[in-house]
Amino acid sequence: MFNGILIEKNEQGYRAGCTSLDEAQLPAGDVQVRVEYSTLNYKDGLAITGKGPVVRAFPMVPGIDLAGIVEHSTHPTFKAGDAVLLNGWGVGEKHWGGLAQKARLDGNWLIPQPAGLTSRQTMAVGTAGYTAMLAVIALERNGVTPAKGRVLVTGANGGVGGFAIAFLARLGYQVVASTGRQEEAAHLRRLGAVDVIDRAQLSAPGRPLAKEQWAAAIDSVGSHTLANICAGLQYQGTVAACGLAQGMELPASVAPFILRGVTLAGVDSVMRPLADRLEAWQRIATLVDGELLASISREIALGETIAAAAALLEGKIRGRIIVDVNR
Ligand code: NDP
Repeated sequence: MFNGILIEKNEQGYRAGCTSLDEAQLPAGDVQVRVEYSTLNYKDGLAITGKGPVVRAFPMVPGIDLAGIVEHSTHPTFKAGDAVLLNGWGVGEKHWGGLAQKARLDGNWLIPQPAGLTSRQTMAVGTAGYTAMLAVIALERNGVTPAKGRVLVTGANGGVGGFAIAFLARLGYQVVASTGRQEEAAHLRRLGAVDVIDRAQLSAPGRPLAKEQWAAAIDSVGSHTLANICAGLQYQGTVAACGLAQGMELPASVAPFILRGVTLAGVDSVMRPLADRLEAWQRIATLVDGELLASISREIALGETIAAAAALLEGKIRGRIIVDVNR
């Protein structure tokens, strides 16, 4: 038996609880992992609270991220004792995920933990940090360099936003952080932001074109914010769009694309091919250190996950939550 979060949906409604599970209930897979740590991402918050249609099969163990040690494997790449990491692939949505002490998975979804990082540290980064790095790489692939000008990061106090600020600053960019929590401005400056703006400047309907302010942006907010970013990008600027914290819609005009040649680069982390994952995690390992991870994350026990999921969706959590599934 092992402990895990289980989401059920039936005639009694939608419920998530911390419960004891039987190994025989684990789904099919060629690698079984003893999970050491998982995390709480925005998507996990939606899954646990039922506030978004994330879970596609019930009952479901949520958790789109996990890190741990292989217990047994028939996959050619992995053997018992290997330290592995998983982000996405629909795990925690349609295949039992990381918020449990054990997981059985398709070995093709796993990568080795990057050299120099522990299970706990990889989960401090989690899908949020991995997505932030994919966004940084998307900017680079579109020719963005520190010399081009300031880079805007929205959702700055969120998991993606915090890592985007830290990575960009450590790569030499001048980062402007956009947040609804001005009381966290000092924290955002410690992460590397040179300026902090109020997200209200971006969240209302705006004009098709605005003053050219940013060479690039990493946006985890979407909606009017993303439309206003497009309108305020410099000539041939790029925005990497990866989230929808404000909303799914994109009420924008084509003006920034056809008059300023801006690029809207979409970032998906879930189905990302293996080579991109390995590149992103290798880059992350060179940029993070214990001090950054401690400043951006805090740890909770498995039993605290459900309350934390609700707080995350209410915007009450700064940075990242690491879940110790063994306490
Ligand atoms: P968090 O909840 O940690 O952060 C979201 C942040 O967005 C909040 O901290 C807040 O920042 C800001 N925010 C919240 N509500 C609003 C609003 N109504 N208007 C404007 N800003 C708002 O989430 P994550 O960082 O983990 O994820 C961010 C987004 O990215 C989510 O939509 C998530 O689904 C998406 N995502 C997408 C991935 C992909 O593969 N494309 C992977 C990972 C995440 P502040 O308080 O500073 O204003």
